[in-house]
Formats: sequence, structure tokens, C-alpha cells
Amino acid sequence: MSLEDLLKSAPIEIMEARILAAHSLQWSRVQLITQSKQALSTTQVEDIRRLFDRRLHGEPIAYLIGQREFYGLSFEVTPAVLIPRPETELLVELALERMTSNARVLDMGTGSGAIAISLAHARPESKIFATDVSQQALAVAQRNNNFHQTDVTFFQSDWYQHVHGRFDVIVSNPPYIRAGDIHLSQGDLRFEPADALTDHSTGFAAIEKIIHRAHVHLERGGWLLLEHGYDQARTVRNLFHTSIWSDVQSWRDLAGIERVTGARLI
Ligand code: GLN
Repeated sequence: MSLEDLLKSAPIEIMEARILAAHSLQWSRVQLITQSKQALSTTQVEDIRRLFDRRLHGEPIAYLIGQREFYGLSFEVTPAVLIPRPETELLVELALERMTSNARVLDMGTGSGAIAISLAHARPESKIFATDVSQQALAVAQRNNNFHQTDVTFFQSDWYQHVHGRFDVIVSNPPYIRAGDIHLSQGDLRFEPADALTDHSTGFAAIEKIIHRAHVHLERGGWLLLEHGYDQARTVRNLFHTSIWSDVQSWRDLAGIERVTGARLI
């Protein structure tokens, strides 16, 4: 059977079928076209069909091919880490705007390392630290760090548990989906690490913890920037007490949704 015939009979979207076939065969986009009529081996056909089947059952494309683009860079992803989302690029941009040269930055709950590595890649002279509670996630992040030849320092920590010193900017995309939210049982989220998506509580538990002790780890005038859910901006703004925080504000993502809230330590 040729790739052309296999793609015609694919039980999934054609674009996705092409991506999975190219990944399985390790063919380039050009090969996908020029070799589409060439007969595939039985093993090749079986391997591709197995991927189609897994996709049909909902597994995210990013996990099936082990990779996802974020901020113009390619990141390895496994089911140990959240799949980087385009809206999180807003968090990267806001952090970059606030990073002076040689800035010390902390990314909490780094997962694949996408945020920290994007910052380090854009600002090689800065010093980026990143935590995760999951050793498995840190292993993925470290591989991404090596791949991009960035110099992020990763360490295991349950939020501030093993964090020492002060930073100019702290960023985080913490688990913010509330327990029992319907989205957790839909689409890609079903296959992603629950602890990276939900705090198993109100959706604000991790956000509160991060804000609560941020003053201990921020330089004066330093920024804390947090990603959150589509309906959480107002509550998150209210968690920043005006006695120690200034410039409390939220920023909209490309879909027009208030997606990041942050403030500056007085
Ligand atoms: N943005 C993700 C989603 O809603 C959630 C990520 C998170 O909880 N940090 O699909």
C-alpha cells in the first residue's frame, strides 16, 4: 500500500494524518509528496495505522510526535508535561518587556521548560531559574535546555520550598483549572498530567500560594506575572494586596481574553 492510499483511508483529519505519517516514516514534507505513490512495507503501514488509531481515541498530536512549537522554538513533550499553549507566549512577551539586562528570573512549575527556555533563548545574558515539583517534568525540561543550548538552572521544588534568593521577575503558568471542571474530561486535557492542570481545589490554590510568598523572593520593583483561566482575572487581581503591590493589571491574549495578571512589588 502507498502512503497516498493510506492517507485516503485515514480515519482522522488529513492534515493530522500527514503529520503522523511524516513522523512515523521520518520523512520530510517534500518526501511526503514525492514518495507518496511508493509502496510502504507492512511494518510501516502498521506503525502509521497505530498512530491514526491513537489519535482517533483522542491522544494529543504533540504527545504522539513528542514535540510542540512554542515561541518559535521546538520543544520535546511527553505525557509528564503540559503541552505548551500559544496563549502562554503572552507571558513570555510580558516577562521579556520587564527584564533588564542580566535580569534574574524564576519560572515556577516549568513543565517542559518552554517559558524559561524561551526567555533564556531571547536573553542569553540573563540568569534564568526554573522549578517543578515533578522530577519527570524536570528531565524533559533539562533535555529541552540541552537541545536549545540555553543555560537555565532547573531544580525540584514544591513552589517556594527550595527557592532561595531574590529575583527581578517571577513568572508562572500554574495549575489553575478548578476540581471537577468539565474541560478536564475533554480533548487533549484528558491526556495531560492532572497536577499541571488543576489544583484539585478552587482553581486559585496554586496562584494564591505563589502570590502570598512572592514578596520574599522578589527584588523591590520586581514583577510577578501569572497566567490564569479565562474567568479568573478579577479574582487574581484582588489577591495582590495594594499595600505591597503596585501596577496590578491584567493583559489580554490574542483571543481577547484576560490571560495574564501581574503586579510590581513596592
Ligand atoms: N491553558 C490550559 C487549558 O486551559 C491550562 C493550563 C494550566 O492550568 N496552567 O487548557
